[in-house]
Amino acid sequence: MSARSRLDTLAQARPEWAAWLRVVRELAADLSDPAWDANPPRTAPASDRAPLLAGAEMRPDTRAIARLLERLSGVARAQGLHAMAGEPRQAPGTPADALAVFMAALNDDDAALAMQASRAGASAQGWRTLAGLLPMPHLHACARRWAAGPRAAWPHGYCPVCGAWPTFAELRGVERARHLRCGRCGAGWPMPVLACTYCATTDHDTLGALVAEDKKAHFSVDVCHRCSGYLKSCTTLQATPSDELLAADLASVEFDLVALERGFLRPPGPGVALRATLSVEAASMPARRWWR
Ligand SMILES: [Zn+2]
Ligand SMILES: [Zn+2]
Repeated sequence: MSARSRLDTLAQARPEWAAWLRVVRELAADLSDPAWDANPPRTAPASDRAPLLAGAEMRPDTRAIARLLERLSGVARAQGLHAMAGEPRQAPGTPADALAVFMAALNDDDAALAMQASRAGASAQGWRTLAGLLPMPHLHACARRWAAGPRAAWPHGYCPVCGAWPTFAELRGVERARHLRCGRCGAGWPMPVLACTYCATTDHDTLGALVAEDKKAHFSVDVCHRCSGYLKSCTTLQATPSDELLAADLASVEFDLVALERGFLRPPGPGVALRATLSVEAASMPARRWWR
């Protein structure tokens, strides 16, 4: 099943999400589009603790970023999601503005995102959600490069590429090898079954699982009684395609709700603050208006 057909199936099952799923659908083809492989960031020397993009100098294709923001905002407004995209005449309208949104979302810069939301006439939470989609195609391209290169073992719970906490774990194949998956960049990396993603404890007395009564359920929830963190876990024969992670995450939301009801949480921010910067070339784009 393709990413788009997964999202369409989900929209039929969850009509209350249909408007948001249309916005996510607009992004789906970009996540695997090799056009985004151009202009990789300049990264710091490899580290066994810092993700690839920590302190990186980003050189994204400014026009591609501006066009993507225009498309996402346009679909959101057409779906009536003005709290998310703001009003057209107040929306940011230059490539430099689009790059600022890209960088704020990449660095999880709450203050910058809140200011942009207020300028655009959007709600802080809505803008944050929409802006979070903007760096994803570029991040997926970064993760593809990372996956194709030589890789050392990565023993941490946060993503080795973008520093986000994983969206869910996969228990793959008959041997049920555990891999964590990042919903932001699509990266996947192996992790022992008995280890908390967030506090790294391996004390099996503090680790547990919430398992559905339905024996056919592919998802369950790993929980840690030490840090109160939870992570969804799914059994699968093969790795979930990177561009289908968002749909798989949304489709299993009832497992998030069960974990939250029992008092377990996911950390609100990323595992590692990237503090990435914008390259001089990208930042010096003329600030002319790029879209209406
Ligand atoms: Zn990532
Ligand atoms: Zn823990």
